[in-house]
Amino acid sequence: MRAVVYEGQGRISVREVERPRLAHPADAIVRVTMAGICGTDLHAIAGHFEGMVPGSVIGHEFVGDIVEVGAGVTTLKVGDHVMASDFTACGHCHQCARGDHWQCGERSFFGTGAAFGEPLAGSQAEYVRVPFADSTLHRVPKSCSDEAAILVGDNLATGWAAVERAGVAPGDVVAVIGGGAVGQLTSLSAQAAGAGAVVLIEPSLPRRQFAAAHGAIAASPDDAWAAIEELTDGEGADVVIEAVGAGKVFSGAFDLVRRRGRIVSVGAHPSPEWPIPLANCFTRELTISFAIGDSIRLRPQLLRMISTGILDPTVVIDKRVNFDTIVAAYDDLKAQKNMKTVLVL
Ligand SMILES: [Zn+2]
Ligand SMILES: [Zn+2]
Repeated sequence: MRAVVYEGQGRISVREVERPRLAHPADAIVRVTMAGICGTDLHAIAGHFEGMVPGSVIGHEFVGDIVEVGAGVTTLKVGDHVMASDFTACGHCHQCARGDHWQCGERSFFGTGAAFGEPLAGSQAEYVRVPFADSTLHRVPKSCSDEAAILVGDNLATGWAAVERAGVAPGDVVAVIGGGAVGQLTSLSAQAAGAGAVVLIEPSLPRRQFAAAHGAIAASPDDAWAAIEELTDGEGADVVIEAVGAGKVFSGAFDLVRRRGRIVSVGAHPSPEWPIPLANCFTRELTISFAIGDSIRLRPQLLRMISTGILDPTVVIDKRVNFDTIVAAYDDLKAQKNMKTVLVL
């Protein structure tokens, strides 16, 4: 089968690899019909993830049709059109029962080497093996397009998790730092959750224009405080969500948040350590937390909001490619020429 393959630091190719087979009774094999390309894939290609060996198939966002199920799969069958969470979880342990699937001891993340569990081949391929299919996969409802389903599997679940973790309340002033796909979907999620105002902070003008066209107040990093000051009489934002995944950007959140405000980081941080202004956090009684999307837990509520039109995440998708054009599309994504690209098979 054809797949997008990691060939060593900074290099990918599209080539033939062995088609995956069932390895466990709880597995399913999915024929992929659409796969997302994500900022996380750029980390994988750059060699930031341990255990990412040449020959690994990349990608973790996908929709497709089930072509094989193991004997232990009980809720899905061959022929089902399914969406997937970007990571797997057993569905039975106490973490999963509590809705904390990301903390499941058997979690694996597609296409990212050994960074987040046992290595698992990615989904930018004609076929993908899906462990714990009953919990990892979900039938795509008629009211949800495949493009929306791709986003529920990762980027929208990530943005919504940040808003949920921040406890965004009606009327809150929410600052979102970063205007990539996750930042924009965080902005839409905060608006759907009733935020009074969302200030999206982003250096790129086209990304600021996009945010402004989709309900946010857009500001460059230099203008961010002025915008928040005006909205809050100088108090600071109730919530600041950092959606970039860089220590320096995270530090910027402390200058924008109000006393007793909440900071949530939803960017994937590669730095093992980063200083925080401890005395400032203590005196101002800040709440600092981190969020990773949990599509398995969040997809029922996200799908309801999509079916009623409260949220349309597909606005971020601005490019559709095939196996012949995907390598060049990765370069465009890296150069921020596109916000969200999907591979259509
Ligand atoms: Zn992703
Ligand atoms: Zn579990």
